[in-house]
Amino acid sequence: MLRSIHCEAEIRGDVSACPECSRILKHNIIDGILTRLQEGPHKNLNWEYYTMANLVDLLERKNAIINKLKLHQLNLERSLLT
Ligand SMILES: [Zn+2]
Repeated sequence: MLRSIHCEAEIRGDVSACPECSRILKHNIIDGILTRLQEGPHKNLNWEYYTMANLVDLLERKNAIINKLKLHQLNLERSLLT
């Protein structure tokens, strides 16, 4: 939960946060941070900004692609030999 520095500390009606705290979730920078947390970093982002979990995901995807290419190459060589 995010809390605005201008929080009214009082909730009126059946909302989950005061208007100031609700407004902070619509801020461009906060929205970008939340999107990046949910969807992972943009593919053009420099590696220095990746978390360790992001790097492990990237490495697993790279290894999957390499294995797929190796299998494709083996199947191609087999088909050329027969
Ligand atoms: Zn508030």
